Amino acid sequence: MISMTDEKPLLDVQNLKTYFYTEEGIVKAVDGVNFTVQQEEIFGLVGETGCGKSVTSLSIMSLVPPPGKIVDGKILYKGKDLLRLSKRQMTSIRGKELAMIFQDPMTSLDPVYTAGYQIAEPIIAHQGVSREEGWKEAVSMIGRVKISAPAETARAFPHQLSGGMRQRSMIAMMLSCHPSLLIADEPTTALDVTIQTQILALLKNLKEESGSSILLITHDLAVIAESCDRVGVMYNGKMVEIATVEDLFANPLHPYTKGLLGSIPTGTKGELMTIPGSVPKPIDPPAGCRFYPRCAQAMKTCENSAPAMVEIEKDHLVACHLYDI
Ligand code: SF4
Repeated sequence: MISMTDEKPLLDVQNLKTYFYTEEGIVKAVDGVNFTVQQEEIFGLVGETGCGKSVTSLSIMSLVPPPGKIVDGKILYKGKDLLRLSKRQMTSIRGKELAMIFQDPMTSLDPVYTAGYQIAEPIIAHQGVSREEGWKEAVSMIGRVKISAPAETARAFPHQLSGGMRQRSMIAMMLSCHPSLLIADEPTTALDVTIQTQILALLKNLKEESGSSILLITHDLAVIAESCDRVGVMYNGKMVEIATVEDLFANPLHPYTKGLLGSIPTGTKGELMTIPGSVPKPIDPPAGCRFYPRCAQAMKTCENSAPAMVEIEKDHLVACHLYDI
């Protein structure tokens, strides 16, 4: 991977390939993806549903469900390849150093235990403190994620909390062990806009306070604009563009990114562009550039030759034959 900055990245994903072996054939959900997450950075992964961004995050956590399998690549975390760790080593890193929050906290919060119990458990397990100290720390974490009446909330069961409070409790649970990398997969999609803004602000504050890095997965460019430092755009299992957020919005290079941003007026009245066609099935992707069937700027070479990722300007990479040198 072309180096993004001079710093050593916290996470360096190299040529990651995660395939699903289905009865219909091999679904290449993630097919040769490269990107880095720097220390104390919020890196956004954006793309339409099914582009491979969630499978990328599950691959990092070693939580790819069957029939999925990581078939190639490296996931270097602090220089160590996570794909070479034993199950036991990975379980110990997960929860202690890598944590993940999902779109629906109900899938991660256990309905039969109070929020406080679930936040205290990992603290007790990982920090070796007493039950009483663990509970105190859990209440303090609930306060840190800006829930009023933290002691009361700690005694509540998940179904007694609102969607926003459940998501905050989930964040408290994940942050209680001070992970170096927090993966947040569509953390605000199920929430209304006001709560969404509050949760994103909370993630940003917590990143600044604790020095964690965040990998934020979303289909929503507004969420990227509001929270991220850098962003990677995925299309059909491939990374097509990586840039700082300012650069991506001011100067998108890839035709798909331009389409996503709706930045090309299609008529004199300045109507916004829509991308024609639909995303090809990852089971049968085009031979060359995967965006070829939908790209208004496609050339003959794009049909059979897949473009490589190249750095066009500092920290701005794109995979598209329009930028072949
Ligand atoms: Fe379009 Fe060709 Fe670029 Fe693909 S490589 S996005 S088809 S111009």
